[in-house]
Amino acid sequence: MTRSISILGATGSVGASTLDLIRRNRDQWRVVALTANSSAGELGELAREFDAEIAVVGDEGCLGDLRDAVGNHCEAAGGRQALCEAAARPADITVAAIVGCAGLGPVMAAIERGGTVALANKEALVSAGEVMTDAVAKHGATLLPVDSEHNAIFQCLAGNRIEDVAKITLTASGGPFREWSQAQLDAATPAQAVKHPNWDMGAKISVDSATMMNKGLEFIEAHHLFPVGLDRLGIVVHPQSVIHSMVEYRDGSTLAQLGPSDMRVPIASCLAYPQRMDTPMPPLDLADIGQLTFFAPDEELFPATRVAREAVQAGGAAPAVLNAANEVAVAAFLAGKLAFTRIAVVVEQTLAQCTPPAPSSLDDVLAVDAEARSCAERMLETA
Ligand code: NDP
Repeated sequence: MTRSISILGATGSVGASTLDLIRRNRDQWRVVALTANSSAGELGELAREFDAEIAVVGDEGCLGDLRDAVGNHCEAAGGRQALCEAAARPADITVAAIVGCAGLGPVMAAIERGGTVALANKEALVSAGEVMTDAVAKHGATLLPVDSEHNAIFQCLAGNRIEDVAKITLTASGGPFREWSQAQLDAATPAQAVKHPNWDMGAKISVDSATMMNKGLEFIEAHHLFPVGLDRLGIVVHPQSVIHSMVEYRDGSTLAQLGPSDMRVPIASCLAYPQRMDTPMPPLDLADIGQLTFFAPDEELFPATRVAREAVQAGGAAPAVLNAANEVAVAAFLAGKLAFTRIAVVVEQTLAQCTPPAPSSLDDVLAVDAEARSCAERMLETA
């Protein structure tokens, strides 16, 4: 049976992993929408290869290039509204893989048509929180977690009652700087930060992994996806990234999901859900891996998980402010304008300065995001 799919952020790392799985099972999928921001040529090639119905660039200035690249093969559109319209087109599953809060509008459009959304775009859920989960309930949509940790938890929860959960533990690789000193961290460069030891990912999430803000965002994401209470959510550093997360039940049993560090595994679990599909990954060889080790996070050297935990405890607009400030600070770091260890400082200062009321609609969330970005830009001037 053929199923239809839209991929928001098709030119990125998660987009490429998703398209690799589609390519291997070409006759089973019909591609509706593929989107990018400005990679018009690449998007056009993908749209032609996968015979997409529509290709959309978020940056309207790139629409001419996209039109040239797709020719007469499919529709082409550009701009923020066009992204949302494409996401609202009927599809059996929408893979939400835009990076940052920029993906929020399109994700909400897919949710509002009551679709199944495979969510990689954690920043959208962190920023919108209950605005998104309420919309999921209201429109009868289904959220499937792509993030490997949340996908692991989702799998470990299958067939169990959330009331029986004693604790959910997110594993963290610790990133490329896990064993670095404060002095080394102060001098860390973007090239070093994007070189993750286990995962091949886009630049922004790679920096988030290096600061551990990725785990902070995931903590907030887990809070919304698996409402067991913040006191039952924990983080453990596990450098091998073999166990992707764990669920402990009240009878003392802990279930863990293991797998290779390749996003095609959790993506495949979403694409085939509730069934399973083949992936090209070799089987896990535990004898070869030998040892699995675990450490408590070091929140002195990597304060981001503490800052994120405090933001979700504060609630209201704080998680959206945290996310927006982090996006601004990471972009400044990648541009060589901010030291690595100042990223968490800018986020914390922005949280202290920017305290808008709790958002209750998509427009409110976007307004908080915009206000927090301006505030974070000001913080950069003194950082
Ligand atoms: P990439 O940077 O590799 O790709 C991002 C995608 O989003 C690209 O298609 C990009 O288009 C598009 N995009 C960027 N900015 C905008 C914008 N303003 N408007 C519309 N589209 C935009 O990111 P990743 O694939 O690494 O990550 C995507 C999401 O998935 C993130 O939220 C990340 O946290 C999450 N995630 C990623 C994992 C991974 O292994 N990479 C693992 C788990 C979660 P263009 O090419 O034109 O810039």
